[in-house]
Amino acid sequence: MSNSRIAGLYRMSIVERINALADRGFLDRDAANALLDGAPLLPRNTAEKMIENVIGVFGLPFGIAPNFLVNDKDYIVPMVVEEPSIIAGVSGAAAIFRDNGGIATSSTDPVLIGQIQIVGIRDPDKAVQSLYSAQDDLLTLANKFQPRLMERGGGARGLEFYKYRLPDGDWTVVLHLLVDTRDAMGANIVNTMCEGLAPKVEEVCGGNVVLRILSNLADKSLVKASVTITLASLITGSHSAEFVRDGIVLANDFANTDPYRAATHNKGIMNGIDALAIATGNDWRAIEAGAHAFAAKDGKYRSLTSWSVEPNGDLTGELVVPLKAGTVGGSLASNPGARMGLAITGVTSATELAELMAATGLAQNFAALRALVSHGIQKGHMSLHARSVAAAAGVPEDRFDQVVAGMIESGDVKTWKAEELSGVALPGATTAAQPVEGIATGVACAKVIILGEHAAVYDRHVLALPIESAVTAQIVEREKGVTLSIPDWDIHDDWSGPERVPGGASDVVDLIMRELRVTGRGFDIRVYPRVPLGMGLGSSAAFAVAVIRAFNNLLGLEKSDLEIDRIAFRCESLTHGTPSGIDNNIATFGEPVLYSKGSSTRTRPVPLPQIPPLVVASSGTRGSTGDMVAGVRERFSKNEALYTTIFDEIDELSIAGAKALQESDYEYLGSMMNVCHGFLNAIEVSTPELEKMIQIARSAGALGAKLTGAGGGGSIVALCPGKVSEVTGALERAGYEIVRLNAS
Ligand code: NAD
Repeated sequence: MSNSRIAGLYRMSIVERINALADRGFLDRDAANALLDGAPLLPRNTAEKMIENVIGVFGLPFGIAPNFLVNDKDYIVPMVVEEPSIIAGVSGAAAIFRDNGGIATSSTDPVLIGQIQIVGIRDPDKAVQSLYSAQDDLLTLANKFQPRLMERGGGARGLEFYKYRLPDGDWTVVLHLLVDTRDAMGANIVNTMCEGLAPKVEEVCGGNVVLRILSNLADKSLVKASVTITLASLITGSHSAEFVRDGIVLANDFANTDPYRAATHNKGIMNGIDALAIATGNDWRAIEAGAHAFAAKDGKYRSLTSWSVEPNGDLTGELVVPLKAGTVGGSLASNPGARMGLAITGVTSATELAELMAATGLAQNFAALRALVSHGIQKGHMSLHARSVAAAAGVPEDRFDQVVAGMIESGDVKTWKAEELSGVALPGATTAAQPVEGIATGVACAKVIILGEHAAVYDRHVLALPIESAVTAQIVEREKGVTLSIPDWDIHDDWSGPERVPGGASDVVDLIMRELRVTGRGFDIRVYPRVPLGMGLGSSAAFAVAVIRAFNNLLGLEKSDLEIDRIAFRCESLTHGTPSGIDNNIATFGEPVLYSKGSSTRTRPVPLPQIPPLVVASSGTRGSTGDMVAGVRERFSKNEALYTTIFDEIDELSIAGAKALQESDYEYLGSMMNVCHGFLNAIEVSTPELEKMIQIARSAGALGAKLTGAGGGGSIVALCPGKVSEVTGALERAGYEIVRLNAS
């Protein structure tokens, strides 16, 4: 198998993804051609033979997660799952794990337990003693029922005995038959053995056998997956590495203490394990039952993973879980889709598949905890977070504790607050370089347009606010070649190998390197955004500015903000064609602004007395700024007079809106936003989904709501004085992602 890192996988079409798998040897050509032809993965007449009373074949998405490196072997993980974000999350986590040497796994022999329950026994100890004395005969007999299994290196390996008192006071003895079922999951193998053994068991101990069936608590078949991640790999767009690391440990401790949390924590792990189990035809109900029973093995339901901090500060994680997987038998023989899934994994044994399942579960757990810690549990973590904000802001030692306490008390755990409380001018959050052992960092803002999009391209005013610390870039110098990794956007590119994919973020990095005259040198670039890509929030400009700043800081280039803004504008032109310039302006300067590209004197900061009660929500559907701007241009050229009037009206709205915003006149500003959206709808850049989101926001109490950015997908912004939580809740319940304006 070749490298499982497939650059730009998420940007590819389905056809390109199938070909990428085949070209790299993860899928044979015949299977790829069948997929390309759209052949059903499970024909109806095959389904008819698998279960009873078939009326059709139910569909679920079949996806792939790249980047897995397990025991130094590359894997693509096939995943059948209906829930969005699972594959994106696990792929990003696998990329981080990979950069840290990959996942190590180990396992015990693939032993499944069969249970034979015996009742009608007066003296359980005597019964156990008799069975124990006959154990060699019992094992020999058990193996006679599965002669081929011995030839394959498996077979009945041992017996264990348990006695329990039943509610009526009688004793029951339970014999455990331990069977190495090799590459089969083993349910039928073990059931056959147990049923065959029952008469002999009755004869030996004098009781009556009742149940004879496998146990799904397969704790003789344990799999361990572990990973160690350097601190530097843990930084996210909005949080320090220490914050993320300690948050993950804290979240794990929480799951070990509280069964309510543990259930959700373990569900996240099973998101990965189940999706791979289904894709490879395995019985995921059996795996689920075993995992949850094992999680409660000491009488309390706990986390299946453990995360801890190494003495050198690195983060270590481990998952131990019973996994009885199969690569033969079960539905694999009949289900062609499951055979394809198994082929994609490239595993050669059930043990290897079980270890890949554990690796996937661990990666999924990391992805979930990292996201939770970064976005959801800051409150309980406020002290730690405040310390990292103060440290990042460069608060002097003698005022450190005071500033941390002040930020917590005020509720504003932000760089500006740290600056205010420390009473000294600190390096600004948007420009601060934080060198960590040879790593240079650059941070940039994204933007939300309140009024004026599209008209801005025609030199009219646009009013926009920054989204704080939206993208963080880290760069280290290396000997040669350039790598670019943006796990949250699933972008992984490598200039030194065959992986370099022209287009998008990589071309922007090339342009930046040319502008900064650093081409030919080697760099590892990692980028951590907290805004989605292509959602009208200026992510591409924030990406460019963060990378330029990181280079600037790493190499001491001393580029001014004006120079950074100029280079970022060139990047924007490369990405979007004819940008208005607002995105690079805000990304660089990080200030609310009334902007017009026609003349720099017409661009002015809009200092605000308070952060306005805005809610920004992303539709999850990408819009192309270039295509939207080109579409408006075409319609403008056909109807210049009408469009000129509309742009003039929008210009006036932006200018008046800036004044209303400064005066906190939200009622007036809200109505201007609604009118502006009407104009944007008129120039055909809205979509039915954006209209739906706007209706949700207005119904939940927003005074104004409109699309923001280029449209055609992307995001909305709503002004909601006194109704922020209602509007946020309504949009979240409808499945939309909220993007916070401030980083904490
Ligand atoms: P199976 O019944 O198909 O048996 C596996 C067969 O594969 C055996 O005949 C074995 O001889 C053969 N084989 C070929 N190569 C092998 C190798 N390298 N290693 C081992 N065996 C090899 O499959 P199974 O694994 O015994 O049973 C799995 C099925 O049982 C699943 O579909 C599951 O849903 C179902 N099941 C589960 C439960 C439960 O979990 N509680 C109960 C009953 C049935």
